[in-house]
Amino acid sequence: MAEGFRNWSGSIDFTPTRHVEPTDEDEVREIVRQTAESGRTLRPVGRGHSSMPLMETEHTLMSLRNMRGVVSYSRERMEAEVLPGTFIRELGQELHREGLATENMGDVDFQAVAGAVGTGTHGTGRRFGNLSTLVTGVRMVTADGGVVDWHQDTHPELMRSARVSLGALGVFTLIRLRLEPAHDLHRLSWCVDTEVVLDHMDELVERNRMFDFYWYPRRDETQVRTLNRPGHEPDLDLPTRGLYEQDLGPIHQVLPKDQELRYEEIEYLMPLEAGPSCFRQVRDRIMRHHRDRVGWRVLYRTIAGDDNHLSPSHGRDSVSIALLHNASLPYQDYFFDIERIFLAHGGRPHWGKKHSLTADRLRPLYPEWDRFARDRRDLDPQGVFLNDHLRESLVVPSGGEETS
Ligand SMILES: Cc1cc2nc3c(=O)[nH]c(=O)nc-3n(C[C@H](O)[C@H](O)[C@H](O)COP(=O)(O)OP(=O)(O)OC[C@H]3O[C@@H](n4cnc5c(N)ncnc54)[C@H](O)[C@@H]3O)c2cc1C
Repeated sequence: MAEGFRNWSGSIDFTPTRHVEPTDEDEVREIVRQTAESGRTLRPVGRGHSSMPLMETEHTLMSLRNMRGVVSYSRERMEAEVLPGTFIRELGQELHREGLATENMGDVDFQAVAGAVGTGTHGTGRRFGNLSTLVTGVRMVTADGGVVDWHQDTHPELMRSARVSLGALGVFTLIRLRLEPAHDLHRLSWCVDTEVVLDHMDELVERNRMFDFYWYPRRDETQVRTLNRPGHEPDLDLPTRGLYEQDLGPIHQVLPKDQELRYEEIEYLMPLEAGPSCFRQVRDRIMRHHRDRVGWRVLYRTIAGDDNHLSPSHGRDSVSIALLHNASLPYQDYFFDIERIFLAHGGRPHWGKKHSLTADRLRPLYPEWDRFARDRRDLDPQGVFLNDHLRESLVVPSGGEETS
């Protein structure tokens, strides 16, 4: 038995039989081949920041932490080839040294690139898709120990399955990312009355490059954050309660936050237009039923739609609403009560955060579900990369997964 594994929040805890940390693609292939031959299963893991048991396995856990760094750049195509285990923080620093950057990133920079891409991790900004939309190509070790090398120009349909694939199609060994020239962003945070934010929502979303807000249930207060290119800050006439914080610098320095306190999180993505009404109902429900037990904030963001089959923002510009809750407290009553509101507004869960849906309820939410299911079955007919959680999440019991 290998050592036990715990995810970041501490709610996922298991002991794999074997914990491997390959150093190159050949080693990944050999381990996958042996695993498949012995009829066992394997789960790739990034930094273990997901709070669903995506990485859980009783057999082989494969960390790609020894496969890190940027391998090459193409300035002509504005792309970089990145090893899968590269931490997002390292990626930002390496790209910046070359005068390059990703157009967006999530709220923290602890994740591995493959892990962040694989669950559709997103930041905020009406015109920016989740991180998987930066992926132009992948090399991936498949269940038979072979390697596929796909690019969006040569394999557009398969790339739509591969981008958000939860490690269920294979193990990424190289990820090609679309880049942009590095530039500064001006971050402003200020406190505003919640009703003022709701009244000015369209302006805030449309006129800022990036906009999000935290709502604090105990005080019913809202802290807005915007990021814009210096000199391009929109002139919004909002009654504010004063500037809270500001910063200027490249995206990898001004966007991510340090998160020392551990928390659990549920996050759903709703159609953009449903966001304000959904938030109003969430706020109302928390104020009436949960406020005495909930001290943590609620986060509201926007994400551009995309065409990746299992992307939570597939086919629609989206709003995400996330509830954070102290990791040492029970989260179920709170999260699953509010989850009903998310679902009533057409929400799709973030794959890496708490939710209660199984494949029979997930499938109707995704118009291209069956294409992903077909690619998964073709690439991994024996389920080398499945665990109990993925089987429940991706395989419809009635065999609905099989239809195409
Ligand atoms: C403090 C905190 C802040 C967060 N902030 C945000 C945020 O701002 N926005 C957001 O959208 N999400 C956010 N998340 C969620 C987080 O980004 C996702 O859960 C992400 O997937 C975690 O990355 P990881 O490297 O830890 O991957 P893991 O959790 O280890 O794995 C995630 C998935 O990727 C797969 N995977 C890993 N490596 C490979 C590989 N080489 N090949 C194929 N599949 C692979 C795993 O099998 C698994 O299915 C946050 C989470 C935490 C704990």
